[in-house]
Order: sequence, then structure tokens, then C-alpha cells
Amino acid sequence: MTHPLVPHALRVLRRTQESHDTFTLEAEAPEGFAFSAGQFNMLHVPGVGECAISISGSPRRPGRLVHTIRVVGEVTRHLSALRSGDELYVRGPFGSPWPVERAHGQDLLLVAGGIGLAPLRPALYAALARPKRVRRVALAFGARSADDLLFARELERFRAQGATVGVTVDRATEGWQGPVGVVTKLLPELVVDPPSTVAFLCGPEIMMRFAARELERLGVAAEDVWVTLERNMKCGVGTCGHCQLGPYLICRDGPVFRYPRVSRLMTIREL
Ligand SMILES: Cc1cc2nc3c(=O)[nH]c(=O)nc-3n(C[C@H](O)[C@H](O)[C@H](O)COP(=O)(O)OP(=O)(O)OC[C@H]3O[C@@H](n4cnc5c(N)ncnc54)[C@H](O)[C@@H]3O)c2cc1C
Repeated sequence: MTHPLVPHALRVLRRTQESHDTFTLEAEAPEGFAFSAGQFNMLHVPGVGECAISISGSPRRPGRLVHTIRVVGEVTRHLSALRSGDELYVRGPFGSPWPVERAHGQDLLLVAGGIGLAPLRPALYAALARPKRVRRVALAFGARSADDLLFARELERFRAQGATVGVTVDRATEGWQGPVGVVTKLLPELVVDPPSTVAFLCGPEIMMRFAARELERLGVAAEDVWVTLERNMKCGVGTCGHCQLGPYLICRDGPVFRYPRVSRLMTIREL
């Protein structure tokens, strides 16, 4: 896209309702657009505001720009009203990617809580697209209830492509036959070879802290655990300072960090 501070108008191709409060927008990406798994865009709603949203599509299909969005406030509510044919205003891509290449020859474990599966999905696509590079791929996914599960049908496809997928819910609703409880409970089964495991975590910070602690207990090196941090951000390019956390600007230095670099900062709440 031309200038990092100027939103680019893209045509919405498809809107999919994923759950009661979450939807996916697919838009036609500009010519030559490329991104890496874990990067995000700033989505702009004229006259309303902007918010950071991770790219949830495949890096191997850069022509389709995909975002999965949970409605929490004004900007996301307006984005939710967009339909096929409407214009979506986008700046990006920004931020540091998931280091998928660090899992080459190793096991890759993705731990997602709720909407956290959306920023992880491109890493999953990337790892499954080249099965010989990553030894084993596993996903631990926790949602509030079965009604909050994202990409439910696609989870089957990931299994068919060789990933081990564990899903748990906080609260069982009628018909749910899977595990109930926090996502960390799935980890002992999914971590097969701890010293050769690289883990990417995305979800509420408390979930990431507990998951990182459990991975350490299981023998995964803290250096091999990566997290993504969310703070309210404005410019996206490390200029305004809105998303500063300790010595870092999350938009420029993150959002993906090696866990030990940010573990203590993660306890600092946003004002
Ligand atoms: C790098 C990055 C990637 C993101 N990716 C996604 C994504 O893929 N999908 C998605 O649905 N959301 C994502 N988010 C979160 C999204 O940017 C916020 O929810 C955004 O503020 C929504 O804007 P809004 O105007 O609708 O709500 P707002 O009015 O801004 O916020 C509603 C409530 O959420 C709180 N809040 C807002 N943003 C944050 C934040 N970043 N951290 C903690 N609390 C916050 C506000 O204080 C308020 O209470 C991402 C955030 C970051 C920083």
C-alpha cells in the first residue's frame, strides 16, 4: 500500500459470521501486497476511528486480505456492518511476524484463546503448507463455549492435514462432548518432545502467562515460547507512542515477542 499513514480503499468480497460476536471480512488486496503470519493492519472507518486487526488469512494467498473481528466497540461495530461490495479502508501491514522458520525441524505448538486463533491461523497455514519443514504441528484452542468456537469446520481440515488439534471450552453447552476447562489442561498431551518444541501463544494475557508457565513445567525452553501482545494503538508505525509498554512500542517492536522479553511487562495493565 502506498503510504503507511494513508488508508487504502479495498473492495469487500465476502463477509462470514463466525460466531454470535465475531465475523470475517475478505477483501481484494492491492496489487503486490504481501504479509507475514502474525502481522496486522489498521482498519479505518471514516468519521469513526481505527483499530488494529491481525491478518487471519493465508500468507500464500496475499491477493485475499482476510481479517477476523470480534465486535467490542464502535469501530468493530461499524466494520461489522460492511457487506460484499462495500469499501474497507486499510493501512499496513505492520508489526513483527510469528517466527515460523524457528520451528523448522522441530515441533510447533500453537496455543489460542478465543479470538486469539485468528492471528495464529496464518502461522498454522504456513506450517501445514510445508509439512516436511515442521516436524509436528499441534493446536490447543480454548473458547468460552461451543458457540464461541472459531473456524469450527476448518479445525477438521487442519486435522486432515496432519495437525493434532485439541479443543476445550470453559462452559459445556448441550451436545458438547469434548474437554471442559482451561486450555493449559490440553498441553501435557500435545507437547510430545519438549526440548524440540517451539510454541506460539495468543489470547488473553492471563491465559498466555499460565500457558507459558505450564510449558516451562513440561520442559519447553522459555526462549522457544513466543507471545503476541495487544495494547490500544493509533499510528501503527512507532511514532505516536500510544502503545508503549516499558521499553517497547508494541506496534513497531511487536506484537510478537519472545516470552522472556515481556513476561514481567505483561502484568502491567492498560490505563
Ligand atoms: C496488534 C493487534 C492485533 C489485534 N488483532 C485483532 C483481531 O485479529 N481481531 C479482533 O477482533 N481484535 C483484534 N485486536 C483488538 C482490537 O484492536 C480492539 O478490540 C479494538 O480496540 C476494537 O476497537 P473498537 O473501537 O471496536 O473498540 P474500543 O472502543 O476501542 O474498545 C472496546 C473495549 O476494549 C478495550 N480495548 C480496546 N483495545 C484494546 C487492546 N488492544 N487491549 C486491551 N483492551 C483493549 C477498550 O478499553 C474498551 O474497554 C488487535 C489488537 C492489536 C493491538
